[in-house]
Amino acid sequence: MPIHTAIVHVALHTPSHSGVGDLLSYASAQPLPPGTLVRVPLGKREVLGVVWDAAEATGELPEGAAMRPVAGVLEGVAPLALPWRRLVAFAARYYQRALGEVALAALPPQLRDLQPDQLARRLKRPAKALDQDGSENAIQTIALTAEQERARARISSESGPFLLFGSTGSGKTEVYLRCVQEALEADPTAQALVMVPEINLTPQLEERFTTRFAPRFGSQAVVSLHSGMTNPQRLKSWLAAHSGAARIVLGTRMAVFASLPGLKIIVVDEEHDPSYKQQEGARYSARDLAIWRGREQGAKVLLGSATPSLETWHASRPPTPEDPEGGRYVRLAMPSRIGAGALARVRRVDMNQQPRRAIFSAPLLAAISERVARGEQSMVLLNRRGYAPVLHCADCGWKSDCPHCSAHQVFHKTDRTLRCHHCGYTVRVPRACPTCGSPDIHSMGRGTEQLEEQLGDLLSEVLRPDRTPARIARIDADTTKAKGALEAQLAQVHAGEVDVLVGTQMIAKGHDFRRITLVAAVQPDGALFSSDFRAPERLFALLMQAAGRAGRDAAYMAAQGTQCEMWVQTFHPQHTVYEALRKHDYEAFAAQQLKEREEAAMPPFAYQALVRADARTQEVAQGFLTAATAAAHAAGLPGLDAVTLFPPVPLTIQRVANVERAQMLMESGSRTALQRFLAAWQPVLQATRSAPEHKGLVRWLVDVDPLVI
Ligand code: ADP
Ligand code: ZN
Ligand code: ZN
Repeated sequence: MPIHTAIVHVALHTPSHSGVGDLLSYASAQPLPPGTLVRVPLGKREVLGVVWDAAEATGELPEGAAMRPVAGVLEGVAPLALPWRRLVAFAARYYQRALGEVALAALPPQLRDLQPDQLARRLKRPAKALDQDGSENAIQTIALTAEQERARARISSESGPFLLFGSTGSGKTEVYLRCVQEALEADPTAQALVMVPEINLTPQLEERFTTRFAPRFGSQAVVSLHSGMTNPQRLKSWLAAHSGAARIVLGTRMAVFASLPGLKIIVVDEEHDPSYKQQEGARYSARDLAIWRGREQGAKVLLGSATPSLETWHASRPPTPEDPEGGRYVRLAMPSRIGAGALARVRRVDMNQQPRRAIFSAPLLAAISERVARGEQSMVLLNRRGYAPVLHCADCGWKSDCPHCSAHQVFHKTDRTLRCHHCGYTVRVPRACPTCGSPDIHSMGRGTEQLEEQLGDLLSEVLRPDRTPARIARIDADTTKAKGALEAQLAQVHAGEVDVLVGTQMIAKGHDFRRITLVAAVQPDGALFSSDFRAPERLFALLMQAAGRAGRDAAYMAAQGTQCEMWVQTFHPQHTVYEALRKHDYEAFAAQQLKEREEAAMPPFAYQALVRADARTQEVAQGFLTAATAAAHAAGLPGLDAVTLFPPVPLTIQRVANVERAQMLMESGSRTALQRFLAAWQPVLQATRSAPEHKGLVRWLVDVDPLVI
C-alpha cells in the first residue's frame, strides 16, 4: 500500500451549486506540480481534475472524512502552465462561476473519459511522419498595399492591442497572415491563435493558413478547434497545441482557452460578432478574454472588423486635446477594398409608398429580374427573428401558441409540423382548428420558406440569358441541418447554379461570393425599435456585412458592365442606421450611437451585469430577486454604493418550457465596483435561494457584460 505523504488541491467540476469551494484536497504519494492532470475519486465516481496551487485552496473536507488518494496521473501530458491557470482563474472570477467548472469546460471532453494508460498509449502511437521543415521553401507572399504595409509595420513595432478597422475585402486577412508569419519566424516555439465567429468560416480560413504555412512549418502546424469537430479530433488538436507541435490554432470562441505555452499573437476576426459571447455556463466573451490573455502572456492582440463593436471603437479612440490619453487600443484603418469593385450603391425603398402587405416592392422585383436576365446573382436577406410563420384560424382567431412557452409554434411546411423554436415542442399540423373545428386554417407571417416560394411565383416569367427559368435557393438553419449541407449549398452558389439566394444572416457572413451584384434586406426595421439598446448596432453591422457580399470581383463587375446595389425596404428611410449605411459611414454611425450612449450612461460608458432567475411562476422568480436585493442592502455589501440595481422584470420571452424567467439589471460606472459587489453578492444569492420560501424553487445565474438585455 503506497504511503501518501503529499496533499494536493485539485480543481474539478462538482455538479452541485453547493457553494463549497471547488478545490478539493487529495492525498498523493509524491508532490504533484500545479497544472498536473489527475483522476480523482468524487463520491462513487472517478473524475478528471487539475492540480491547482495550494494557496488557492478553498475546499473543505466534509467533517470526519478521510482524505482520499489521487487515483492516477495522466502521464505524458505536461502540466498546464501558469498563464493558462491564471486565465481560467480570472475567467471564473470575472464571470462569477466556479473555478473547477471553467477549468474542466476548457479541456477537450475526451480527456475526461480517458484512463491514464489509454492516453499514454495514444500519445505513444507513432505520429505520422512530419513534413520536412521546408525553410528553403520560402513562403509565397504577395506584396502588401501601402495601407496594409502601414498597418503591418505598426503592429510589428508597437505592443497594441490593435483594432484593424478595414472594410470587407480591404485585405485584413492578408495582414493577419503576415503578422502571424512574423511572430512564428521570430521564435521557433512561438504559437498563434486565430479566432473566427462561426464554425462555417473555419474551413476557408484553415485552407488559407495551411496553404500559406504548411510549406514552411509542416502540415501538422495548423490545427482547428471548434465544437463541430469530433471528440477525438478535438483532443488531437488540443494535445498538439498544448505540446507546442501546433504553431497555429484556428478556432471559434472556445479556442481562447486552448493551452498555448508559446502564445505570441492572438487574432480575433470580426471582433464585433455576438457569437464571441458564450450564452450558457460561464458566459464569457472570448474577445475580452483574448485582450486579457494577450496582456498577461505577452502576446500581441489584433482585433479586426469593418464594423467594430462600440466598446472596441471607443477603446481605440485617438487622443484629442480634450482627451490627451485616448483609448487603450491602437486603431489602424484600411479603408480601401482590394480587387473589388466600388462599394454597393444603397437604395432605400419607402414601403409607405408601396401597396400594403407587399413583401417585395415592384422596384426591387424589377431590379432582381434584370440581374437574373443578365446572368448575375442576387441575395435576399431576411432577419431570422420575428418572421417565422404561425398557423392561424380565420374563423375564431386561434393561433398556434406553444403550450409551454410564451411564444408561437412555427409552421414548417416541408414536414407538416408545428415546432416551438424555444423548447422544441413539436406536433403534426392539425387538419382543423383545435378550438372551433374550422378547416380554414392558414399560415400567417413569413419565414424564409414562404419567401422563397413567393419569390418563385413572382419571378416565374423571368428568364436567364440561356432562356431557362430563374433558379432560387434558400439557405437557413433548416436547410443546413445535415452535415455538409451548407458546404454543398454554398458550392452551388459559387458554381453559378443559383440565381437568387434567399436566407438568414447566415449567408451575410464572410462568404466570398464572386458573382453577386445585388443584395436586398427585405424587412430589417424590426431591430430599430427593439428594447435592446444594442439592436441598431447589430442591424448596422449586419447590413454593412451584407452589402459587402456584393461586387467582390472587380473584373467580373467590369466585364458585366454592372454596378452593385444594396436594397433596403423600410418604413423609416430617414433613420440614422439607413442614412449611415447609404454613405457606408461606420464612423458617423458610431459617433452618433456613442453620443447617445454617453448621455444615457450606457456601455461602453457604464458596466452592466444581469441576474436571471427561473421558477414556476413570475411571482417566485421576481420574489427571489427582490429578496436577494433587500438582503444585499441590509448587509451593506461592498461596491453597492456605486452600483444601481434595477427592479426585476420578466424576460421578453418570459416563459420557456413551462419555466417563468425574470431578470434584473445592475449598472455601474466602475467595473471594479460592480465586480466587488457581484463577488460579495454571490453568497447572499446562495443563502436567499436556500431560504425555506425559495428552497428548490428557483435557479439563478449571473451574466456579466451581457450582450442581450
Ligand atoms: P478581408 O479579410 O479584409 O475581407 P482579404 O484579406 O480576404 O480581405 O482580401 C480580399 C481579397 O484581396 C482576397 O482575395 C485577397 O487574396 C486579396 N488581397 C489581399 N491583399 C492583397 C494584396 N496585397 N495584393 C493583392 N491581392 C490582395
Ligand atoms: Zn378556429
Ligand atoms: Zn415551447
